[in-house]
Amino acid sequence: MFSFAGALAGPALPSFASASGTVQTETNRPLAGCQAAADVSPWSFTHFMSSTVENVVIVGTGCAGLTAAIYTGRANLNPLVIEGSLPGGQLTTTSEVENFPGFPHGVDGFQLMQNLREQATKFGARFEQAQVQSVDFGSSPRRLVCGDRVILAKSVIIATGASPRMTGVPGEKELYGGKGVTTCATCDGAFYRKMDVAVIGGGDSAAEEALFLTRFASKVYLVHRRDTLRASKIMADRATSHPKIECVWNAAPVAVEGVEQGAVSGLRVKDVHTGAERTLAVKGVFVAIGHVPNTGPFAAVLDVDEGGYFKPVVGSQVRTRMPGVYVAGDCADHVYRQAITAAGMGCQAAIEAERWLAEHEG
Ligand code: NAP
Repeated sequence: MFSFAGALAGPALPSFASASGTVQTETNRPLAGCQAAADVSPWSFTHFMSSTVENVVIVGTGCAGLTAAIYTGRANLNPLVIEGSLPGGQLTTTSEVENFPGFPHGVDGFQLMQNLREQATKFGARFEQAQVQSVDFGSSPRRLVCGDRVILAKSVIIATGASPRMTGVPGEKELYGGKGVTTCATCDGAFYRKMDVAVIGGGDSAAEEALFLTRFASKVYLVHRRDTLRASKIMADRATSHPKIECVWNAAPVAVEGVEQGAVSGLRVKDVHTGAERTLAVKGVFVAIGHVPNTGPFAAVLDVDEGGYFKPVVGSQVRTRMPGVYVAGDCADHVYRQAITAAGMGCQAAIEAERWLAEHEG
């Protein structure tokens, strides 16, 4: 288990050797863990500003955030890592990870994240639980508002990930993560060899997941609430013509069955026109109805695309239009969305931050 109690307080850093240096605290109140205070306006005097200016603040503790923490830690930058409501990110909800390089026998997702955290801690990363609610990147140092506290940073790496959109039907939540409901065919598909599975959704993700699952599953039901896929033509054609894929049109999910047994036994669906219900006897339910990038608190000051994903500047995967502010992982990537690609972006962001700090501190 992650140990929040063991999160290090960390020594105060020397202040920025520039005019943007130490900022006075409004009170000498100790810096407690940030609490949600959504109704507090960002810059009111109810906020308590740290007198410490962090070299680098990393927001997020998934693969991208922790890799950035390892690299910036190892570069002696003493990073402060903010962990939110799902410490360790999406991999902590996966049972076994078989495709992360370096683990020929697979690795438990939770264990992998714990290893990354331990590695980051070894190099001096400090962890703090908080929710970033708003930011001011126009100021120097950069400011991040967490409840009633303001964290000051010379550079920031945002690695807040994306949350899979869920249908919310009964049984989905209860059977999510190791019990048959999943959101990642690449991660979990191999566990469904010679079994029947269902994919929910009609976009490119659903088509891609369904096609990937044909490698393992005996049969893949593609359950969509319309009578045509919204996926690109090439993906839709591939999916609809695949002999192992049966499209279940005009079907809305009603419930995932198997809660009493603790494992998925079926997906109940309803015909959206007739209201008739039936159960698809499947052992796995893959929800592929899109992702919601966790970019909300930053979207007002950084560029995001129509889906809400961060849009880095042209020529870089991680640089934003704000100097010293970087993005990494699934919050800036709706294409690959893999642990290893997120880790790679975390590494890039860390190296960029390190170089930027070196240039700007002379
Ligand atoms: P998406 O295009 O937004 O599709 C989501 C699908 O889920 C839609 O068919 C939608 O139905 C359905 N849906 C949404 N809420 C639902 C609910 N509550 N119950 C049942 N169905 C629901 O999402 P995506 O497929 O993840 O793709 C996101 C973006 O990434 C797209 O731009 C896509 O092209 C891109 N992408 C590209 C690739 C690739 O190029 N290889 C692979 C994956 C994703 P409706 O059709 O009725 O709205």
